[in-house]
Amino acid sequence: MTLYDISLPLSPQTPVWPGDAPILLEQTEAMAHGAEYNLTRLAMSVHAGTHVDAPHHFLNDGRTVETLPLEVLTGACYVAQLPDDVEEITAEVLTRTPLPAGVERLLFGTRNSRYWAQGVQTFQPDFVAISADGARWLVERGIKLVGIDYLSVAPYHDSVPTHRILLQAGVVVLEGINLTQVPRGFYDLYCLPLKLVGSDGAPARAILVERR
Ligand SMILES: [Zn+2]
Repeated sequence: MTLYDISLPLSPQTPVWPGDAPILLEQTEAMAHGAEYNLTRLAMSVHAGTHVDAPHHFLNDGRTVETLPLEVLTGACYVAQLPDDVEEITAEVLTRTPLPAGVERLLFGTRNSRYWAQGVQTFQPDFVAISADGARWLVERGIKLVGIDYLSVAPYHDSVPTHRILLQAGVVVLEGINLTQVPRGFYDLYCLPLKLVGSDGAPARAILVERR
């Protein structure tokens, strides 16, 4: 069984969205300093690393993350690997990308994944993202979960339309995945966000299991 961990490692070196504090892992008890055990405190944005967006992120009356259905977060999933010359995932790009019929969970590998493969530690604003018309295309196509290999599904300077279109339609948005090692094709996705009550997003561990 081939299993791919598509989650980002979380550490103070993990690049975060501009304005967000770096991920903090603070040792509050240390055996090296005489304590009986080691203990660490975690502080981070819920949108750091691999994470899901809940509708509440861009819709003030939207559902919060603990209500996202596990039936959507797990199940058959198609990984599309887009060529390096794709700068934005538009409706036009999607129309010419061969996608199997009936796909409900769709992850996009782009040139973004190279940032993770290379261990780039600074935020990259020119990441590949989904345009508003691309988001509409996905909704019309019946996509229930969409994933992208950088920290936002929407272009850096135009966050609102893509998020609104997807979240309004109830599409689960998975961001910050690393698809460097994953060939195009079908997998079983297991994406398990933390059950944070009332939150607009949550960090998640996400894995793909090869289908036989
Ligand atoms: Zn997010």
